Amino acid sequence: MSTQTIEIEANITVGDLAKKLDLPVVTLISELMKNGVMATVNESIDYDTAQIIVGELAADVEIKPASDAGDEVSRSKRELTDQASARAPVVAVMGHVDHGKTSLLDAIRESDEADKEAGGITQHISAYQIEHSGRKITFLDTPGHEAFAALREHGAKLTDVAIIVVAGDDGIKPQTKEAIRFARQAGVKMVVAINKMDKPGADANRVKQQLSEENLLIEEWGGDIVTVEVSAKEKQNIDKLLDMVLLVADVEELKAEFDVPAEGLVIESHMEKGKGPVATALVEHGLLKAGDYVVAGATYAKVRTLSDTLGRSIVEAGPSTPVIITGFKELPEFGDIFAVAKTEKEARFKAEVGAKDRKQTSSIATTGAQLIAKIDREAAVTEYNIIVRADVQGSLKSVTDSLRSLDRDDIAVKIVGTGVGHLTDGDVTLAETSDSVIYGFNVDIPVSVKRLAVTKKVPVRIFKVIYELIDDVKASMEAMLSPDIVETELAKLTIKGVFRTTKESIICGGEVKSGKAVSGVLVRAKRGEEILGEAQVTSLQRGQQEAKEVIKGEMCGLQLKTESKILLEEGDELEFFTRESVARKL
Ligand code: GDP
Repeated sequence: MSTQTIEIEANITVGDLAKKLDLPVVTLISELMKNGVMATVNESIDYDTAQIIVGELAADVEIKPASDAGDEVSRSKRELTDQASARAPVVAVMGHVDHGKTSLLDAIRESDEADKEAGGITQHISAYQIEHSGRKITFLDTPGHEAFAALREHGAKLTDVAIIVVAGDDGIKPQTKEAIRFARQAGVKMVVAINKMDKPGADANRVKQQLSEENLLIEEWGGDIVTVEVSAKEKQNIDKLLDMVLLVADVEELKAEFDVPAEGLVIESHMEKGKGPVATALVEHGLLKAGDYVVAGATYAKVRTLSDTLGRSIVEAGPSTPVIITGFKELPEFGDIFAVAKTEKEARFKAEVGAKDRKQTSSIATTGAQLIAKIDREAAVTEYNIIVRADVQGSLKSVTDSLRSLDRDDIAVKIVGTGVGHLTDGDVTLAETSDSVIYGFNVDIPVSVKRLAVTKKVPVRIFKVIYELIDDVKASMEAMLSPDIVETELAKLTIKGVFRTTKESIICGGEVKSGKAVSGVLVRAKRGEEILGEAQVTSLQRGQQEAKEVIKGEMCGLQLKTESKILLEEGDELEFFTRESVARKL
């Protein structure tokens, strides 16, 4: 199977994309709907959406941004001078859920030659650096897919090598394919770790075969994809995997500038008691030092403390090093580029510019009272008010981005507030005043907060799987939509005689002109185009007999129940129909 590459702009209409893929537009629209995106043929979808859809529909097609799409201004393509020196590779671990990403990251962590005490640390860290064969390797523990998607917006390439984890007993799954696609599109080298080889059902050959079906030909079969059979649980072959990561990285001759003002990317941020905003960042160029002024997105810091990802204080950090920074005025966002500024004044100014940019591009507002007033004004659209809390900035962004795709003209998700870290009393208070539901992703609810939520009758829903959270929001929105009224016409009858009319009932007779007249249903009485009223058929008679149904061409007698008096005449028409309310779907 040969791979075809198509170029698309930052946005593309559904019709144009269908043309490029040589697929019927309806196929595309229904795939979009499956993914929760409602778009018609002339509407545009963004690059990331297109990428997902193409992946689902045409596995043999790769998409890449058109050269003038503007988001390929890759910072990693910075022109390197002669002064540039070697740097450590940055590695991400990706793969299908439950295939062992976390276990593998833990096993790698424990294999660190430089720090034998590292084992057993279970706290969430978004990056770490280890030493292997006397060389450093940086690992990212950010949610792989989201990281790629979010970072593309910033035109940055975060990783050099992706370890694609595939469970040997399960084989390649949808998220494995997605990971492969992301790695390819980001131009990242891949090493495949075939995991769980300790399990009896593990079959490495089958995985290799499946890889070739994804156009990844392994080395043994003449290709260039390195596979390593490992067991994260039994810690088997972890060393070999790391050897291979270094080998693959070496082909790239990874270098960075050391003698320039430091810059890099924020990969995680959260609030910490007593410390304020805490950001984990990856230095890309230069040496970052404690005391430096640093701008990141819409905020800035005088770096108060600089530490490695084990929390040990350090004086400076060079390229490929993940560091923890405190001192930011506000929380920087996942994916924000940080850069050192010469003075506090310059840092503040740049942050203000960043904040203005952000205001223009972001539609999420986060402050309570003003926002509630705004919600009231915009009441024409039914809104589902929610507050979102997530464990880290990266997952928060993924959740809010996904939620935005649920918006439609008549109903929308209104994100009243967002936050990183565990639920607080403040969330409950805001939810109460803004009539919101609190959604938590990978966070806990402290007992005292839970108690307050129960007292205030604020619904709190906590999820560990992003799709389940999105599905819950979707279902709640569907429940808010007024149902569609569906009428089905059954028959038409022409009145031949009216025998008795009261305020509540009519007894009449007529001939069925089309369809099948049945008892119990509704009729609409019409004179020409004029609608006289509606009634219910309480009795239907053919001859003297009560009839369940009377077909076209037959005469019948009818008894109708009316709400108000309808004066029927010979020649009027009755339309028999049913009326149902059908719950609407998003
Ligand atoms: P993730 O969702 O990809 O991060 O997967 P986890 O690391 O959480 O692993 C999912 C499950 O597979 C857990 O129950 C692990 O204990 C198990 N697991 C991971 N690696 C191995 C392995 O090498 N061998 C076996 N037998 N089980 C493993």
